[in-house]
This record gives sequence, C-alpha cells and structure tokens, in this order.
Amino acid sequence: MLRVENLRKVYQEGTKRAFEACADLTFEVKERELVCIVGPSGAGKTTLLKMIAGLLTPTSGVVYLDDEKVTGPPEKMALVFQDYSRSLYPWMTVEENVAFPLKHRKLGKAETSELIRDTLQSVGLAGAGKKYPWQLSGGMQQRVAIARALAYQPEILLMDEPFASVDAQTRADLEDLVLELRARYGVTVVFVTHDIDESVYLSDRVIVLTPSPTRVQEIVDVPLPRPRDQVETKELAEFSHLRAYVWRSIKRPETADVPA
Ligand code: ADP
Ligand code: MG
Repeated sequence: MLRVENLRKVYQEGTKRAFEACADLTFEVKERELVCIVGPSGAGKTTLLKMIAGLLTPTSGVVYLDDEKVTGPPEKMALVFQDYSRSLYPWMTVEENVAFPLKHRKLGKAETSELIRDTLQSVGLAGAGKKYPWQLSGGMQQRVAIARALAYQPEILLMDEPFASVDAQTRADLEDLVLELRARYGVTVVFVTHDIDESVYLSDRVIVLTPSPTRVQEIVDVPLPRPRDQVETKELAEFSHLRAYVWRSIKRPETADVPA
C-alpha cells in the first residue's frame, strides 16, 4: 500500500548549514498492517513522516501510496501529531474540531453529525462534544485528535509519537485504543515512537532506524498473538525476547555500506 523508495532529505542543501537528516530509506507497508518506526531522538522520524504525508519534499527518492507518487497531502491519509495542544483549535468545541477536516467532503448534515458522534464514542468521549479542548486532560485531547483523524475515514493513519507527553496509564489506554480502532476500522497504521516497548506491543513489524543520516537498520517481525493485552502480552517470553532484540538493534553500530 505504501512504498518508500530511497528517500533522502538534506535540510538547507547547498549551504554551509546543510544537514543530511535521512540518508536512504526504503521499506513497504502493507494494507491493514500496523508498522512502528522506532529510532532515537533526532533520527529523522518526523522528517520521514512529513515526507510520507506529502508535507515535505524529499531531496531524492519517492513515496508511493497505492502506486501513486505522493507529491502533496494525499486524500486517503490522516495524521496525528505528538503535540495535541497545538493540533486542536482552542476556539472550537470538540465536535467542531472533529468536523473541521470534513468540510471538504460532500457529506450531508445528518451524515456528518453521525460520523462525529460515532468517532467520539469510539474513542470514549461520547459526552464531551460540546466541551472545549482546554477543558480536557492531555489524554482526552489526544483522543479528540484521534477521533478527528478517524472521522476523516483515512485508509492510512500516520502517528508521530502521539503518546509521548501523557502519563503511563493514559498511554497504555491510548495504545489499546489504537489497536481496537485499527481492528474495527481496518485502517493501515504507521506509528512513530522512540519507545521500544510501545513499538513491540503495537506492531506487526518494527522498522528500526539508525541515527541521522538515517537508514533502515533492520526490520523486525512481531508475531505476537492478537488481541494484545498490556499485562498478558508483556508477560510473554517472546515479548521480552523481541524488546531485547529491538533494543540491541538500536544500540548496534550502523552496519550499512556507507561509502567512505
Ligand atoms: P526525530 O523526529 O527522529 O526526533 P527529526 O526528523 O525531527 O527527528 O529531525 C532529524 C534531524 O533533522 C535533527 O537533527 C533536526 O535537528 C534536523 N531538522 C529537522 N527539521 C529541520 C529543519 N527544518 N531544518 C534543519 N534541520 C532540521
Ligand atoms: Mg519527531
């Protein structure tokens, strides 16, 4: 479904401050797959996601979505950012925030309100539609951002460290929400995180990135049974084994054949 081919990004190319954030990234994501991209801070994860989302032009390389080259934000894609406090409009109610991206869809009024009601319910915010984002906790605000992305009915959902700034319990709840919603809506998910446990817990496959200039260090299959459970899954020997494996992969010096 998604194909990233030899993607490279050099910021401020041609100047003294030129910085190669992504060196050469190639991977695929299949339909309905949940893939986590994990790498240290500054590894170019956000850069990569912005290029996939058509928000940043690669220096070279191509992103294909359903065999079409991505040159701008694709219709079938939605994004959830880390910083929910800046991604929701404070002057709009929760309902209005969720409705906002639907303006370009030619939906009837009844259909729109049904969609808003359903998605708010599915993220556990059935009663919060008339509230303003600043009246909600961080975890609830991020649920609104997820509802907004889902109401848009994307085929692919990109998430950039979406739970990095909520407490541990909320984070676990939101992880399970993503798994549940993916199962319900059949959406393909590309989830960026620097948290190794989170990457293994959620994924079908984990793509491990090297530090900048970024390459794919390794792609790890995660054949843990579903549905996953915060306690039972993490208790499995296979889970510990996989998290240790990903951990070592990140720590391992880059083995790629970088020309001298
Ligand atoms: P991550 O999301 O993995 O933490 P980023 O993609 O945000 O990493 O950044 C990767 C590297 O690129 C960092 O060293 C960052 O400072 C640099 N970078 C990001 N955005 C820009 C920009 N607009 N101009 C110059 N350098 C940038
Ligand atoms: Mg980032």
